[in-house]
Amino acid sequence: MGIDQNSIIAQFPILKQQINKFPLVYFDNAATTQKPQCVIESLTDYYSNFNSNIHRGVHHLSQKATEAYEQVRAQIKDFIHANSSNEIVFTKGTTDSINLLAFSIGETFIEEGDEIIVSELEHHSNIVPWQMLCQRKKAHLRVIPVNDEGDLLIDEYRKLLNKRTRLVAVGHVSNALGTVNPIKEIIDLAHQNNSFVLIDGAQAVAHLAVDVKALDCDFYAFSGHKMYGPMGIGVLYGKKHLLEQLQPYQGGGEMIASVSFEKTTYNELPYKFEAGTPNVADVLALSKAIEFIQKYGISNLAKLESEVLEYATEEFKKIKRIKIVGTAKRKAGVLSFLIEGVHPYDVGTILDQFGIAVRTGNHCAEPIMTRLGIRGTIRASFAAYNTKEEVDRLLKAIHKTIDMFG
Ligand code: PMP
Repeated sequence: MGIDQNSIIAQFPILKQQINKFPLVYFDNAATTQKPQCVIESLTDYYSNFNSNIHRGVHHLSQKATEAYEQVRAQIKDFIHANSSNEIVFTKGTTDSINLLAFSIGETFIEEGDEIIVSELEHHSNIVPWQMLCQRKKAHLRVIPVNDEGDLLIDEYRKLLNKRTRLVAVGHVSNALGTVNPIKEIIDLAHQNNSFVLIDGAQAVAHLAVDVKALDCDFYAFSGHKMYGPMGIGVLYGKKHLLEQLQPYQGGGEMIASVSFEKTTYNELPYKFEAGTPNVADVLALSKAIEFIQKYGISNLAKLESEVLEYATEEFKKIKRIKIVGTAKRKAGVLSFLIEGVHPYDVGTILDQFGIAVRTGNHCAEPIMTRLGIRGTIRASFAAYNTKEEVDRLLKAIHKTIDMFG
């Protein structure tokens, strides 16, 4: 049975506004999704009713906040099907998760001459931390190429794997083109080669059911703000036996067992990786975002999005001057395109005049743009509150843009 999309839309107060006298059409969800009322209210509720620092207080508020915070860790464990809450590390977001891992795995496992594999499709957040690590350790970055459609060339990946490959870091879904990568195959091949695997799930968690146990990935990173949750909170999942071996990333309060000037010992998992006062308010609000997703069911939300993506793709194909960038076999949530003869920035600016929010540029994925021989694209990215009627408004505005530019 289908779900009532209007009841979803009604929960997002920001969508009710007009921009430039037009009802807002928000197609910039790959950058960040909007937040339902339950997430917004959770933030106010926390600061109004039980704000306090957690883990080290005997008083009522601190205990209440600690309990709520740890319950969310367990909820996220269930959401991504991890084995244990100790495998869930709270971070600021995907970028923070990957930097944590790059530092910690680097200090623990990476030696001179080792190799790390990324792909040509990656977001800068899943490239630069590995480059920095390679510089620190005199290791080498290797890159899985893609074809013109935006699919990874798995045979080339097989060839890159060798006995020096310590880690493979690839995205689950590309933010620039929408490609859904065959990550199970990528993970299995890496493991056959005794390499660790990190999956950058920033663009996946709001669109696909994620089961880290079934995937068998070693690490999985994602951000709250791309899954209807607040900014400033994210997760690094890691297999317990691996996290236990890793050096901590940052030092400070909370991550220690005992401190003396002679010797400091580190706290148990996951606290070893959570130095300093945690972002309790956003953790609790993230919990509401997960409840929102689970209330409808991720596959139902994904169905709404894929109907919109398919409709938009078919309609865009009919417009001669439009070139769709990224036509991979399997896609989620993203339609990147160009209009012949019009700069993407101009398209974005004109669409904004019609109240339509899209993103233009390289989408923090410059290498894939370079590979495709372009500087950037116009990107419409979808969430469960987007409709075909909104796509029709986009199409109308695109026709007007084409007319304006002759
Ligand atoms: N990876 C991918 C695939 C992304 O789309 C993004 C955000 N655009 C990131 C990483 C970085 O996420 P954040 O900015 O939330 O850290």
